[in-house]
Amino acid sequence: MDAGTWFTQLNAWQVMALGLVFFGAIYGLGGLAMSLLTRTLAGLGLGRPLDTRALKPDQLQREWRQSFYSILVFGLGMIVPWGFLQLGWAHLTPTAGAGRIALEILVLLIWNDVHFWLNHRLLHTKRLVRYHGDHHRSVVTTPWSTYSFHPIEALMLGNIILLPMLVHDFYFWSLASVPLLSLILNLIGHSNYDFFPKVSDTHPLAASRRHHLHHARPAGNYGFALPFMDQLMGTQVKTGTAQPTSH
Ligand SMILES: [Zn+2]
Ligand SMILES: [Zn+2]
Repeated sequence: MDAGTWFTQLNAWQVMALGLVFFGAIYGLGGLAMSLLTRTLAGLGLGRPLDTRALKPDQLQREWRQSFYSILVFGLGMIVPWGFLQLGWAHLTPTAGAGRIALEILVLLIWNDVHFWLNHRLLHTKRLVRYHGDHHRSVVTTPWSTYSFHPIEALMLGNIILLPMLVHDFYFWSLASVPLLSLILNLIGHSNYDFFPKVSDTHPLAASRRHHLHHARPAGNYGFALPFMDQLMGTQVKTGTAQPTSH
């Protein structure tokens, strides 16, 4: 039996339990791996930390608490795409070649950047910013800032695959790769580490610098991993205008 059929045949409780284990595991392992990676690179003198100020005294506890609620939202929320399949609103293709899988993942990652920019820009409007303040309480970011946001923000960011599922019959593993790849890119964004200090701010490898600038000066750099949405919409933060301020 292919993975898509197996997933569709789970019952609602099994899907939610699977979701909680999946998101809890990738977040816990991913956060630890990113902490270890940046510590090792700093020890080797490769790259540099972006903001060397101390964390706020209760920051890590708050980030873990808020991340726990986001894992609940994302994990239990797996019932929604599963529900789409049960209702026949969406279908999965049982087999796919490597080329099709690569193309599906590429399209989903580009959509991820568009979807994130739109939701993040909305979260910076007067009406919604109250829900985004939780995430911006982390001025000096850590890997645990990644899921540290209000449950409303978790609901907005977590629905990424729903629209694509309605318009295309994806391969199960293409869809399953989205939360994992998205988490890895998001951990890089919150790593507080400049992995490639020599590249320009708009270079794909400068994602952590761009998101660091967003936390230092929240007006601008609403994009996710790639700079194209901020370039298209004219919302880039220029280096030098985003000196970290004391909070
Ligand atoms: Zn952030
Ligand atoms: Zn923001």
